[in-house]
Formats: sequence, structure tokens, C-alpha cells
Amino acid sequence: MKNANKYILLAALAGIIMGLVIKNLPDSLILQYISDISILVGKIFITALKMILVPLVFFSIVNGISNLASSNKAGTIWRSTLLYFAGTMFFAVFIAMLAMNYFKPGVGISIDVWQLNEVATADVLSLKDFIYQFILGLFENPFASLSDGKILPLIVFSILIGVTLNEKNKALNSARDFFRSFYEIIFKIVNWIMFIAPFGIFGLLVNMVISQNLTIFSQLGIFMMIVIGIILFHGIIFLPTLLFLFNRINIYSLWKGGRISFISAFATSSSSATLPITLKASQDNFGVSKDVSNFVLPIGATMNMDGTAMYEAAAALFIANLVGLDLSLSQQFILFFIAMIASIGAPGIPSAGMVTMAMVLQVLGLPLEALGILIPMDRLLDTFRTTVNVEGDLVGSLIIDKLIKT
Ligand code: ASP
Repeated sequence: MKNANKYILLAALAGIIMGLVIKNLPDSLILQYISDISILVGKIFITALKMILVPLVFFSIVNGISNLASSNKAGTIWRSTLLYFAGTMFFAVFIAMLAMNYFKPGVGISIDVWQLNEVATADVLSLKDFIYQFILGLFENPFASLSDGKILPLIVFSILIGVTLNEKNKALNSARDFFRSFYEIIFKIVNWIMFIAPFGIFGLLVNMVISQNLTIFSQLGIFMMIVIGIILFHGIIFLPTLLFLFNRINIYSLWKGGRISFISAFATSSSSATLPITLKASQDNFGVSKDVSNFVLPIGATMNMDGTAMYEAAAALFIANLVGLDLSLSQQFILFFIAMIASIGAPGIPSAGMVTMAMVLQVLGLPLEALGILIPMDRLLDTFRTTVNVEGDLVGSLIIDKLIKT
């Protein structure tokens, strides 16, 4: 993904320029060919993403949960870690959805080249019916959900397999190896798909510019500002306040002790690559015990991603606005949870959130073509969300350490 990232911005720019040229010279035969080929390439990219989405979700969740391993850590560390992760992520998504529902960027623009899936256009149910259907819909023949691309029942089934694989049972060793190897294979394929991403983005943007008026780009700017604003709010106000309440450590001391890991997260866009630095900062600069930091931080680097969860929720609402879909309360409820699951499912590497973003769009029935506008701006937004992801892990290790010691 790293390599593709370098070319994606260039490809996006080239796509916009080519789209403008074709739009202004509609009679040129050559340009017409270029436009047809670009549309085809854009479609191939999206279809390839759809191809890999279901196996990726399945194998990454099974593998992630089975890796939690039967830890010997005391129940208090376990419980407080999970509670902290869930609580902060819950708050993060809540703020993101509040801000997006208030500012509503993208409302009034309707991108007609993007097709809505049936799920999104389905009738809005009463809350009671919705909860009823939602719960029943979580359980389904896994082979049917695999083939129909139904993500929620698939997630439930993957969690069940992952939990089972945590059992200390030698008979499960080969199954664990199988899932681990398959996850590697799927990840390789994701990298190949990201390799063609610049061409796909080019094609999608040519298509969009031809058929769209350009006000969408100003809305994109507003969306980016909202995302950066809410992420900064979480990182500068919410997490430091929490830390102060529990540990009496102020924001300046947090910055002083944690800046090496924040700066590294900002520069690498990878929670996993930053992990050794975060471990060092937590142990050396804040005196967190090894027991706590060696448990909280590695799990946090792959599972606790407040910034990513905020982004996924905000981006889905932005795309819904762009296609003129007013998400009902029940759909927003689904978005709330799926954004959290998507961020837990995203590995701590650059642009991982973009791949699980496809899952969020799919669940809500929003067009995957929207990735064509989200991916080009991802490099910048990823730096902010990774920094807050890492800050969330570090603050978590400090708070849990304090709870254990008192
Ligand atoms: N780059 C992020 C991280 O490593 C994940 C993402 O949101 O793409 O934490």
C-alpha cells in the first residue's frame, strides 16, 4: 500500500484533469476511447475490492481474535483494557456522528454515477422491527453469507471461530495455522489490488468529473476539515481529560513523555510500526509496568483505533450525503457499530482503514465507487488518525497501570 500511496495523488490529479478535458471536448473520438477505457479500469478496481472484501473480513477477524491467545493476565487487566478500548471508541464514534449530522457536508450534491445497493433503499423499519430483524440477521448459514456478501452474520461467525481457536487444545493447532496462512495470502492479494489502485482512482475520477459538477471538491475540503477537527478534539481534549481525571497527568506531561511515539505515528501512519516506540515511552517515560504495557499496547496497536473509528463513521455519512441518502436512525445505529468493528478489524498499517472502509460502505449499501474520492485524501487523514490511535493506546496503558496499582 505504501508504494501505491505515492502515485495515488498524482493519479487523482491526472484523473481530474483528464475528466475536465474530456468534458470540454466531448466530440473528440480519441478522448471518447480514453474515457471508455478509464471507466472500465475504475470498474475493475472496484470489482477487485468487492472480490477480496468478504474473505478479508472473515480471515482478519478470525485471525485477530485467535491471536488474543489465552492470556494469563489477571482478570482486572483484561477487563479494564477491554472496557477502556470500548468506552473511548464509543465516545469517538459518537462525536464523529454528532459533528457530521450537525455540519452535513455534501448535502445537496447528488452523484448520479454512483449506484445505491438495495440495502440502502430498503424501507425504513420501526425501531422494534428493526431490532428484531437486526438480531435475527446476525445469525445465518455462514456459507450463504459468504456467497451473498452479508457482512454482519459473517462477522458473528468469524468471532465465534476466533474465540474457539483461543482454547488451549493441540487439536486446534493446524486450524490456527491454516487461518494464519490464509490471512497472509489474502493480505498479499490486497497488496496487489492496491498496486492497481492509482489506475483505478484515475478511472473513477475521470468518470466522476465527466458526469458531475465540480462543487463536490469544495465539499471534500469541508469534510476533511471536519475529520481533522474531530480527531484533534479527541486527541487534545477528550483523551488528555480522561488521563487527568484518572492519573492527574496534564496534557503537557503527556506530550513531553509521549511525543516520540506521536511523531513517529504521524510520520509512519502505522500503529504497528510505532509499537516499539510506544512501549518504550510508556515504560521509560511514564513508568508503566511491563505487565501492563506489554499486554495493553500490542493489542491496542491492532484493535484500539479511535481515530480510524471516527473517520470511518464520518466518511460513511459523507458518502451518504453525496448520494442524497438520509440515513435513518436504525441505519445510523448500524453505522455506529460497524465503524467500531471496522476499526478493530483494520491492521495497524498505512491506509488499512481504507480497506475496511469498503466493508462499512457495503454494509450500509453505499456505493464502493466512493472510494475513488476517499482514497486520494487518505494519506493526509491517515497521519492524524494514526497519531490519535497511538495516543489512545498510550493513555490506556497509563490509566490501566494506575488502576492496577491502586
Ligand atoms: N494507519 C492506521 C494505523 O496504523 C490505520 C488506519 O486507519 O488506516 O493505526
